[in-house]
Amino acid sequence: MGQHAHTHNEHSGASLVAEASRALIAAGEQWTAMRESVFTELARHERPVSAYDIADNLSAARGKRVAPNSVYRILDVFVANNLALRVESANAYLANTHPGCAHDCIFLVCDECGEAAHVDDEEVSRAVRAIATARAFKAERPVLEIRGLCKACT
Ligand SMILES: [Zn+2]
Ligand SMILES: [Zn+2]
Ligand SMILES: [Zn+2]
Repeated sequence: MGQHAHTHNEHSGASLVAEASRALIAAGEQWTAMRESVFTELARHERPVSAYDIADNLSAARGKRVAPNSVYRILDVFVANNLALRVESANAYLANTHPGCAHDCIFLVCDECGEAAHVDDEEVSRAVRAIATARAFKAERPVLEIRGLCKACT
């Protein structure tokens, strides 16, 4: 964060899962089979998905109940380690397509279809953090979300 020019790589599919596991292990956390299942399920979704939906889908796929609470705990670890992003206004999660690269991601959340388009803008991010710093407020995780209608729904 705060670096103006850097090599920014967006990942998807198997390459995203591999990148996420690398990032989590590099952070000193374990990449367990359950964590891999939750991440893979999360990464399958293009729109923000709730912990309950992930738990339901995993339960169906495994033929055995996966508790939403254990999914929540894993998502917390993912968010803390930049593997997943929480879309606050949707109370849902997205796989972070750049797990090796920290940004204050900006989301454009469609009220109609639920799509959350993801944008990184370091100038906006710096300006928002500067507002907090000016008030001696320690910005941990700026939440930048714009609600409205996506192009397809307009
Ligand atoms: Zn980047
Ligand atoms: Zn981002
Ligand atoms: Zn839409």
